[in-house]
Amino acid sequence: MTVRVAINGYGTIGKRVADAVQAQEDMTVVGVTKTRPTFEARLALEKGFDLFVAIRDNIPKFEASGLRVCGDLDALLGKCDVVIDCTPGKMGAQNLDLYKLAGVKSIFQGGEKHDLTGRSFNSLSNYGDNLGADHVRVVSCNTTGLTRTLYPLHRDIGIDKVYATMIRRGVDPNDDKKGPMNSIIPVLKVPSHHGPDVKTVIPGLDIDTTAVAVPTTLMHLHSVVVKLRKNASTEEVLDIWDRTPRVRFVSGEDGITSTSKIMEMARDMQTSRSDLMDIAVWKDGVHVIEGTLYYYQAIHQESDVVPENIDCIRAMFELTRNNMESILKTNMALMI
Ligand code: NAD
Repeated sequence: MTVRVAINGYGTIGKRVADAVQAQEDMTVVGVTKTRPTFEARLALEKGFDLFVAIRDNIPKFEASGLRVCGDLDALLGKCDVVIDCTPGKMGAQNLDLYKLAGVKSIFQGGEKHDLTGRSFNSLSNYGDNLGADHVRVVSCNTTGLTRTLYPLHRDIGIDKVYATMIRRGVDPNDDKKGPMNSIIPVLKVPSHHGPDVKTVIPGLDIDTTAVAVPTTLMHLHSVVVKLRKNASTEEVLDIWDRTPRVRFVSGEDGITSTSKIMEMARDMQTSRSDLMDIAVWKDGVHVIEGTLYYYQAIHQESDVVPENIDCIRAMFELTRNNMESILKTNMALMI
């Protein structure tokens, strides 16, 4: 079976997910939507994607700018088996009704609340719970990062308590509208939304989170403290993560002393768009002291959720019933 995938919202996440779907052998992109005839719309056409207009009234604007469009969102929904909703956060509720009306499955992103679908997804922790599901949310970039490193420890060692601080990039690199420019902005509500969000994919995990936004665009950084249930050595923790897909060690000794150096590494690796879909854990920043684990990890917010969207499609169409089989397929196709 080849799953026919529509992308609604061809922005930071949408364009990456579109490329990732196209790289798989068991799914194909049948079209992407844009609201306005921008350079991204033109580049989507140049890549060979069929272009649809998300806001029907804007079709004449596309025609006036010479961009060939195949119709509106309804037309696209008529051609697909699943729509990946990558519209800005909080648009999901109105869109879910449209998708249900069209009788297609849908995947939402982390800007939507868990309650929208009642199902949240992470490839490692709950692939099996979403087999055959119709409407699922892939958790946010920060929650994906926390889940990738905490879930294997929870499974193999046991966790009594997590305290994690998210130091969040202010905006994405392409965002010229928002700051902060000269501020550090704490989230005054504790826990920040990240801790409760992790529990949607690792039920029963005791985790509290705080968060601050800082004037940087490249990555988020997490400072994580974990009270382990069993005493384990630093080496045991490193060994578990060494065997965990989409977790990559970096080290200060190797010259990787900052998020900017991690992104320089990704540029040197010549990944698509210089993305880093792995979670980067500083190997020499991992320390277990009397049963408490301390570590730092960096999250490339624009890309870490992309492979999870692909695995989520496989779970919803039961293309593979086993999560590791899907993770390996996705990783091979995306050269992760
Ligand atoms: P974005 O603003 O880069 O892209 C959104 C796209 O949707 C834009 O191209 C916009 O023109 C388009 N759009 C606007 N209104 C639309 C409509 N009515 N119909 C169709 N398309 C419409 O946003 P993004 O960063 O890609 O975020 C998308 C989702 O992914 C959000 O839920 C966000 O929370 C989540 N997410 C973002 C990041 C990140 O760091 N960028 C990481 C993980 C998850």
